[in-house]
Amino acid sequence: MDSYRLIVVGGGLCGAAAAYELAKKGAEVLLVDESADVAGATRYSYGGIAYWAGTTQLTNELCAAAKARYPQLSKELLGHDIQFRPKSLLLTIDAGRDPVEVARNYVCFADKPQLLTVAEAVEREPLLDAKNISGAFEVEHGHVCPVAMTQAYRQAFEKLGGTIRIGRVEKLVREGNVIQGVEVDGEPIASKHVVISAGAWSREILKEQGIELPLYFSHAEMIEVAAADASAVQMQSLVMPAEQKRFGLEAQMGEAEFAAQWQEEDKELMPPVLDAGVIQFQDGHIAMGQISRMQTSTAVTADAAASEAAMREKIRKVLPKVADLPGQWHSTLVAFSGDGLPLIGPVPGLENLLLFSGFSSPFVYAVPLAQRFAGTGNLASDPWLGQMLPERFVKAD
Ligand SMILES: Cc1cc2nc3c(=O)[nH]c(=O)nc-3n(C[C@H](O)[C@H](O)[C@H](O)COP(=O)(O)OP(=O)(O)OC[C@H]3O[C@@H](n4cnc5c(N)ncnc54)[C@H](O)[C@@H]3O)c2cc1C
Repeated sequence: MDSYRLIVVGGGLCGAAAAYELAKKGAEVLLVDESADVAGATRYSYGGIAYWAGTTQLTNELCAAAKARYPQLSKELLGHDIQFRPKSLLLTIDAGRDPVEVARNYVCFADKPQLLTVAEAVEREPLLDAKNISGAFEVEHGHVCPVAMTQAYRQAFEKLGGTIRIGRVEKLVREGNVIQGVEVDGEPIASKHVVISAGAWSREILKEQGIELPLYFSHAEMIEVAAADASAVQMQSLVMPAEQKRFGLEAQMGEAEFAAQWQEEDKELMPPVLDAGVIQFQDGHIAMGQISRMQTSTAVTADAAASEAAMREKIRKVLPKVADLPGQWHSTLVAFSGDGLPLIGPVPGLENLLLFSGFSSPFVYAVPLAQRFAGTGNLASDPWLGQMLPERFVKAD
């Protein structure tokens, strides 16, 4: 039987970052993902790095650490262009909304976005439809190509001596309450520790072990436009709505009434929300969306044609020249936690099993946290990781 010191399950952005940082510290690591290509939420992500959006001492420190780390990371992942660039983000305010009132939502952020008039917003992004906005906020955002970045982490991990196994982790190998490895496509592989970083699928892996933690997921739908089909447009900014509903929906899921409902099968917990945003990548391709659904099963039940039409209709109001470009509808699952902070560290009740999952905005938070996770022997005493331990959700008797 093969044997490793550490197995990381899931090679999306978070698992690949953790595996790379662990290998950099000299650990013997196996990274297992069922897909050789970048899959999961990372595959469809916008890749925005909101390092202006910290609201607490902890998140401000993480934002500052990410801002310092990205330029260095671009150099460190030698030969792999992660397409990192600072980029203006415009947060559009719907026509009819009072910009001053909407601005109140932004007072909590460390780097406050600047309020622009309609004319100033259109000057920044000439593709905006002036008549359908009442202004916009502008802030400097970071941007990467999520697929390139994850591939860069994976390849740099292999260069450090890490091993990647393409296959599905069907179950964890367990003796009593001690995790001893994983079973991949029927083959047991031993390890001293297993780190679950399987995005939305982390929840299922824990459930199979009888562990219930507030590690949830949304179904996200978006439309991807190939670079060739987007060649007629050249966006100057990343465009997102100033009043994003997705984060509010995630926050509601942390409330007690929903915790019990997550244990029910095939339940739609709230009506879907639509945040009309458009991101053009450095290579010219466009990602636009997005619909978020809170549904307890991983099965996709959305009506693709109806969802696509709804997204295009909303985007048409903000960016009419982009809304009708030919594109492909996609759906994926995005993990988040019950309190907005990721779950990092030992899983209560099981030995040798750790989590590195449940990130909201992982492009800003997972990058410095992967580094800290790999370099810290005692997670509980670390000022960042000590606040992210899964045990925070376990009530003392
Ligand atoms: C449209 C959209 C836009 C977004 N925009 C942003 C943004 O601008 N900024 C930001 O920070 N975040 C954004 N996000 C969220 C972000 O992309 C995700 O939170 C992030 O990619 C999650 O990474 P992950 O590694 O945790 O999970 P995933 O990328 O989902 O990776 C999980 C991996 O685990 C593997 N896996 C699962 N089960 C198993 C198993 N049993 N065995 C083996 N492998 C398994 C899967 O194949 C997959 O590769 C966006 C998401 C979407 C959908």
